[in-house]
Amino acid sequence: MSLPTKYQLDESQMPRVWYNIQADLPVALPPVLHPGTLQPIGPADLAPLFPMDLILQEVSTEREIEIPEPVREVYRLWRPSPLYRAHRLEKALGTPAKIFYKYEGVSPAGSHKPNTAVPQAFFNAAAGVKRLTTETGAGQWGTSLSFAGQLYGLEVLVFQVRVSYDQKPYRRAVMETYGARCLPSPSTETAYGRSVLAERPDHPGSLGIAISEAVELAAQREDTKYALGSVLNHVLMHQTIVGLESIEQMQMANAWPDVIVGCTGGGSNFAGITFPFIGHGLRGGVKPRIVAVEPAACPSLTRGRYGYDFGDTGKMTPLVKMHTLGSTFTPPAFHAGGLRYHGMAPLVSHLKELGLIEATAYTQTECFAAGVAFARSEGIVPAPEANHAVKGAIEEALRCKREGRSETILFNLCGHGHFDMSAYQKYFAGELVDESYDEKELAMALAGLPSVSA
Ligand SMILES: *Cc1c(COP(=O)(O)O)cnc(C)c1O
Repeated sequence: MSLPTKYQLDESQMPRVWYNIQADLPVALPPVLHPGTLQPIGPADLAPLFPMDLILQEVSTEREIEIPEPVREVYRLWRPSPLYRAHRLEKALGTPAKIFYKYEGVSPAGSHKPNTAVPQAFFNAAAGVKRLTTETGAGQWGTSLSFAGQLYGLEVLVFQVRVSYDQKPYRRAVMETYGARCLPSPSTETAYGRSVLAERPDHPGSLGIAISEAVELAAQREDTKYALGSVLNHVLMHQTIVGLESIEQMQMANAWPDVIVGCTGGGSNFAGITFPFIGHGLRGGVKPRIVAVEPAACPSLTRGRYGYDFGDTGKMTPLVKMHTLGSTFTPPAFHAGGLRYHGMAPLVSHLKELGLIEATAYTQTECFAAGVAFARSEGIVPAPEANHAVKGAIEEALRCKREGRSETILFNLCGHGHFDMSAYQKYFAGELVDESYDEKELAMALAGLPSVSA
């Protein structure tokens, strides 16, 4: 029997710095714009929402940013995370490819999200902040911030996308166990939520709406800041600990990836595993192929427009240049709630425009089929979001089989699916359907993009 081989670093080998890809970009990231003046914003413009340490990380072009020792102490609760070689999956597929996966489901929240929740809570607490507001889709981010907020004595208020709030009651129970307050979004707690409900009382919600609600409350109070679980530069940077560890572990395995695969909602777990390898390539090293996998029902990278847009539906955030389906677009209610976002991280979008990464989209039923095959081979039940990365990696392995190539594939298994078993039950019952998005609504949302002639 060929069990997975585990490559485990010891605590002393855990990275001491995060990697900032902005230091190595061949072309600088387009500026963030003020929605009124359309002029580039400065750090002070973001101060109502974020503590200055995080704002400075957001705009930094230093290659390495030190991970504070108290954050490393918390990371040690589950890091370094394991990297495995998927021998049984390789055999089941009959592929000559070598498949490796980095497993981020070992964190207390069960996903990669605490990698950024912990430093965000740390820097907020250090700045004297008392309360954090945030959004959550499937509940992974809300859970992670609730855990991290609790560590630093911060109150946490989570706006959970309505459809996930209803589909995944156990996630809310976990957030409440960590001491957070969780509301379904759109809610009656904010002016924006009330305006959405007035128009459509049964609105399923979206990440874009939940972000508007969280931002609205944070902007109102001095002691309250906002925390975002993906998309922003500093969030992606915190996740690079995943790729930095993977580099060490691939060396332990005497291997180097030819292809790296990650799923993309806002882009943070994908950036986490890929950016350190992309940076290595940009500095003259080997350049692996990099593949982003997104849901066919919310395909920002493959079907969206690259342009300036709001990060939220209520148009309260600054304008960022990204691949977007339009900030008013509401994706269908599929189960990978963490991937239901209208936009994409500006850094990931920029790399796509520069031709440094590829993107592809799969439907949720194909992704569940891949996740079930993975669980039966490797023993871990992936989160519905992670199933997209599994599907992408399996497709690469099957291509290698057709072409007779023994390439090395690495993917990020960004979380486990233990809170998503009702989605698996539906899949087994044949009740999981592939809803596609409304083409008319997409066209309308794209037509409503702000006009910026930069
Ligand atoms: C939140 C989440 C995602 C999507 O967010 P990214 O920023 O794209 O990583 C993907 N997988 C899991 C398990 C998540 O919790």
